[in-house]
Amino acid sequence: MKRYIVNNENTFNPGNHHEVHTIEHATQLRISSYTDLGYCNSSIEAKKKAKTYYWDADGCAICCPEAHEG
Ligand SMILES: [Zn+2]
Repeated sequence: MKRYIVNNENTFNPGNHHEVHTIEHATQLRISSYTDLGYCNSSIEAKKKAKTYYWDADGCAICCPEAHEG
C-alpha cells in the first residue's frame, strides 16, 4: 500500500486537474498544499477518494498512470 494525496492546487498540469500523487512524488514536486488521502491499495482507489474532495481529480501520469485520464 502506498500513501496518496490530492493537490489542492489545480494549476500545475496541462489539464488543470486536481492531481493525485503518491506522497513521495508530491514531495519531489514540492507540493505544499494537499489533502492527505491516506494509504490506498491502488491509485484507482486513491482517485475515488480524491473525487469526494474534487470532482475533477485525476491521477498523475507519472506516479499514478493506471488512474490517469488526462
Ligand atoms: Zn505524481
